[in-house]
Amino acid sequence: MKHPQQENLLHVDVKELKGHPGAQQTLSTTVEAPAGFGTVLVGIAEHSELNLDLRAESVHEGVLLTGTASAEVNGQCGRCLDPISYPLTVDVMQLYSWEPPEQSSTAQSGPEEDDEETRHVTEQLSIDAEPVLRDLMVSALPFQPVCRADCPGLCSQCGFRMEEDPSHAHEQLDPRWATLAGLADQLNESDEDGAAASS
Ligand SMILES: [Zn+2]
Ligand SMILES: [Zn+2]
Repeated sequence: MKHPQQENLLHVDVKELKGHPGAQQTLSTTVEAPAGFGTVLVGIAEHSELNLDLRAESVHEGVLLTGTASAEVNGQCGRCLDPISYPLTVDVMQLYSWEPPEQSSTAQSGPEEDDEETRHVTEQLSIDAEPVLRDLMVSALPFQPVCRADCPGLCSQCGFRMEEDPSHAHEQLDPRWATLAGLADQLNESDEDGAAASS
C-alpha cells in the first residue's frame, strides 16, 4: 500500500514556514514518478522523470503550494494502438491547512468530504505533494487518447490500419447474412417460377 521511499520524495518539510507568514521555500527538482500517475491507456510511467518547479509559501491559513509539475506522458492511441508520447505540464495551486483534519467522524471513516478540497499539513509539519500532483496530472490525461485527432484507427473486422488505405472494406458478408441472402435468392426464384407458371 505505502511506498515510503517514493512518498518521501514528494514530501516537503515545512517546519521553517510555521508561524512565519510570507516565508517561502522552493522545490525545484526532478524526482521519479510514483506509481499510479495514469489511466489504462496513458500515463506517466513509474520511475520516469517528474520535474517539479514548486514553491511552498507560508500563509495565515496554512501552506500554499504553487508552481508547475511536468512529465512525459506515454501510452497508446485508443484507435490504432500506436505508441504515443507527449509532454504534460500542470499548474499547481494547493492550500494545505495548518488545521488538522476534522475528526468528527472517528478515524478515516468518511474521507470524501475533506480530502477532495482541503489538504492538511501533517503532524510532522510536512506536506505531501503526491496526491495533489496525481489528481492534477491524471485529470489532465485524455479519456480517449489518440495519436492524432483524425486517426482513422483499425478495421473493426480484420485490424487493418485504415490510414494505409482509407477505402479498405470487406465485401464478404457475415455467414448469417449469407444464409439470409441465399434464402432471399431462393424466394426470388420461386416467385419468378410462380409468376411464369401463372401467366
Ligand atoms: Zn492512432
Ligand atoms: Zn478489414
